[in-house]
Amino acid sequence: MRVDLHMHTEYSVDAAQPQSAADKVRACIGAGLDIIGITDHWDYFRTRGPSENRDVEACLRDIRAAKQAFAGEIEVLTGIEIGEPYVDPAADEFLRTHELDMVIGSLHVMPDDIDIYFHDYETLDCDAFLHSYFDELLKMEAHGGFDVLAHIDYPLRVMKHEGYVPSFDQYMDRIEQVLRACIDRGYALELNAAGLGGWMKQVGPPQNILYEYRRMGGERISIGSDSHTLDTVGRGLDDCIRNARAAGFDSVTVFRNRRPEQVALG
Ligand SMILES: [Zn+2]
Ligand SMILES: [Zn+2]
Repeated sequence: MRVDLHMHTEYSVDAAQPQSAADKVRACIGAGLDIIGITDHWDYFRTRGPSENRDVEACLRDIRAAKQAFAGEIEVLTGIEIGEPYVDPAADEFLRTHELDMVIGSLHVMPDDIDIYFHDYETLDCDAFLHSYFDELLKMEAHGGFDVLAHIDYPLRVMKHEGYVPSFDQYMDRIEQVLRACIDRGYALELNAAGLGGWMKQVGPPQNILYEYRRMGGERISIGSDSHTLDTVGRGLDDCIRNARAAGFDSVTVFRNRRPEQVALG
C-alpha cells in the first residue's frame, strides 16, 4: 500500500490556499496513493488558547465529508496534528470529544511559545537548547494522547547557521530515551519528508536513528509527506520506503478509529 499519513489543507494557517480537503484527496488519487491521513494543525500553547487552524471544527467536517465522497477510490483517515498536547489540559478534552482515526503528536514550540523554527540559533546555546528539546519531547511522550510521534528531526532542519551544522550524533543517549518511550507507549515513529525541501535534502529521521529504533524493538512506523501544497502529496514516499526497508521494516502502522493496524509497505 502506498500511504501518506501527514498532510495539510487550507485550514492550516501555514498551508497554501485554496486547498480544500476534496482538492487534496484528488491530488492524492492522482499521485497513486492508497491510504492518506489528512492532519491539519491544532497547536496548544502555554500562554494563549489553541490555534494554527482557521476553523478546526469545519476542518474535521470537511475531512469526514471527503472520506465519504471518495470511499472506494482511496482511503481517507480523519486526522489532526496536535502540537504540544501536554501544555494545556484542553488538548485532552478536545481529543476526548472528537472522533478521529489518527492523531499526530508534534513538538513545535519550546521552551516557551516560540516555534523551533523562529529561534535565533546564532545567539543561543544550541547544546542546551537540544537538551531541553529532548526533555520536552519526553514530557510530551509521557503525557500521550496521540498515535504518531512526528518529525523528531525538526530542530536539525532549522538550526543550521554559520559554523554550526546540527546533528543528533552527540545526543544518542537522549535519542534512546525518546525511542524507548516511543516503543513503550506504542507510538508510531514518523518518517517525515519535509527535510527534502531544506538543507538536509533527505527524509527524516537520520537513518542511524531508524536503525537504533529497530534494534531497540521498535515495530511501528508512520510515513508522511507533511505536504502543505497540492503538488507535494506523496513527496519522499519512495525514500521513506527505502529507508524503512533498509532498517528492517516491511509494514507501516495505520491508525483507524485510533486503533493500530499493520499495512504492507509498497
Ligand atoms: Zn509539524
Ligand atoms: Zn505537519
